[in-house]
Amino acid sequence: MKLLFATSNKNKLVEIQKMLPSEIELLSLEDINLKTDIPETSSTIEGNAKQKSDYILEHFGIDCFADDTGLEVDALNGEPGVFSARYAGEDKDDAKNRQLLLKNLTDVINRKARFKTVISLEFKGSNYLFEGIVEGEITNKEKGDKGFGYDSIFIPENHDLTFAQLDLATKNKISHRGIAFQKMINFLNEQF
Ligand code: IMP
Repeated sequence: MKLLFATSNKNKLVEIQKMLPSEIELLSLEDINLKTDIPETSSTIEGNAKQKSDYILEHFGIDCFADDTGLEVDALNGEPGVFSARYAGEDKDDAKNRQLLLKNLTDVINRKARFKTVISLEFKGSNYLFEGIVEGEITNKEKGDKGFGYDSIFIPENHDLTFAQLDLATKNKISHRGIAFQKMINFLNEQF
């Protein structure tokens, strides 16, 4: 079956492609020629994920899934959270976001944080939500050059390396999105 992933982030497409059962043909926004941004105006991660999958279903009538992720930092009362992509400004610049976060945590001892992903799946007329959380802490400086977003400043719990130092297969096994995707994939496998 065909299933569209409502993302224009190529890193995420590569991540999920490797995890999907062979029965599923993954489509991207390029395949439906959608070049405009899908609205993300909710105040919650769940709300944004659902808003994106609803939009695709409503406008293109195809089964799809969308994800939304936030990085919640305890010392910043859960910020940047739902604003993670735009933390340092509307241009959604990953490097600027990381720099601002490190600046806001200067001399802060409690560096506990977590990534949270929610996936909203539109499948055969129903909506399903899947959540994945990974606990960890924010480093004092950037380490590693793999990955994207906040990867180079986040060390997952029970590890010594940042997400940007770990290989993709290891990251997928333990990451917020990996956990949420695995839940969705388990669900999809039960449907065939
Ligand atoms: P989005 O909801 O996937 O667009 O992600 C929101 C923000 O979190 C963006 O700034 C992303 O770069 C960042 N982000 C999402 N997933 C990851 C990840 O796996 N590692 C690091 N940063 C991420």
